Amino acid sequence: MSNSDIIAFVRSIFKEPEGFIPLHAPLFGGNEKKYVSDTIESTFVSSVGKYVNRFEEMMQEITGARYAVATVNGTTALHLAMIVGGVKDGDEVITQPLTFVATANAISHCRALPVFVDVDRETMGLSPDALSSFLKDYAVVRGNECYNKQTGRRISVCIPMHTFGFPAFIEEIAEVCAEWKIALIEDAAESIGSYVGNQHTGTFGLAGTFSFNGNKTITSGGGGAIVTNDEGYARLAKHLSTTAKQPHTWEFVHDHVAFNYRMPNLNAALACAQLEQLPVFLERKRALSSEYAGFFQDSGISFITERKGTTANYWLNAILFADRPARDSFLSESNTEKVMSRPAWELMNRLPMYRNCLKGDLSNAEWLEERLVNIPSSVRNQ
Ligand SMILES: *Cc1c(COP(=O)(O)O)cnc(C)c1O
Repeated sequence: MSNSDIIAFVRSIFKEPEGFIPLHAPLFGGNEKKYVSDTIESTFVSSVGKYVNRFEEMMQEITGARYAVATVNGTTALHLAMIVGGVKDGDEVITQPLTFVATANAISHCRALPVFVDVDRETMGLSPDALSSFLKDYAVVRGNECYNKQTGRRISVCIPMHTFGFPAFIEEIAEVCAEWKIALIEDAAESIGSYVGNQHTGTFGLAGTFSFNGNKTITSGGGGAIVTNDEGYARLAKHLSTTAKQPHTWEFVHDHVAFNYRMPNLNAALACAQLEQLPVFLERKRALSSEYAGFFQDSGISFITERKGTTANYWLNAILFADRPARDSFLSESNTEKVMSRPAWELMNRLPMYRNCLKGDLSNAEWLEERLVNIPSSVRNQ
């Protein structure tokens, strides 16, 4: 199968014979304008307003989590989730090298140190086996906490990420974390509408975080959310996201060094209108991915599908070429032809600010990085 066969197929399924085809563009076909206008007419455009509360209720309903806390973006959701989860200055936080930089940045914002542990090839998410063997080599449990024997630092949290919306082996990861007394926070930024069995991603540990950036499955312009089943955790997260102001009609008294992280009503209005369409979006993304799956069958290029027992949202469809030269030739040809495609993110351990971080063997992440390309995945307007 040649690069031009793939490019022609993408053009045919998007019914776009010559124009630019983006990787993932938002689709506004519902109540977006109505709800956004409503916030302007009401004057409640900032972080107080009915849509912010409605957005949190919708997130609870969709994920099945007892509580949801709206934030200004996915990065702040991660930052706040870790602060509330007890991450302290000088801790180590385990995550995967194959992720968007926000995951590692949020760890740094806590003044903690990211530690990179390998993914598995099947899910592209943190490998429970790699996690377990890393901890056997490095960790010791003292009291109710986990420590790195070599660095002496506390390992407080583990943050796996559900890459491109494909659920990681999260139940197995949760077991390893429980055994080693490490809190589990899922970076579910890419996985709204993705499930393991009937359980939504982001609900397997202490907390999960989501992003509603413009390129995600559902967008609020910019936005994020934390979900949790722990009432005290949710209360503190909301409190710290709103400057830790004690409720009072006119007095301004604050009881923590806190944040201004609450999602504005203007953005929440957009999010509510988008979330109403989530089932339709997921159905259309699934139809697109099954067309891709059929096309790539027996092609020598593997199309990544959801693993057994899980439902992926297929946020970004991904294919694996035989090697790096084949990957690079497709990236170059498709982007020249205005059909957008993208390699995996540069692995976190290779970025200048994370080059010296502790890491395990990362051979699966490196294997995937050599071969992986994301191809156009927008919800089609049909
Ligand atoms: C999008 C994303 C985030 C958060 O991004 P924001 O742009 O801050 O909303 C975090 N982690 C991953 C893996 C992401 O893809």
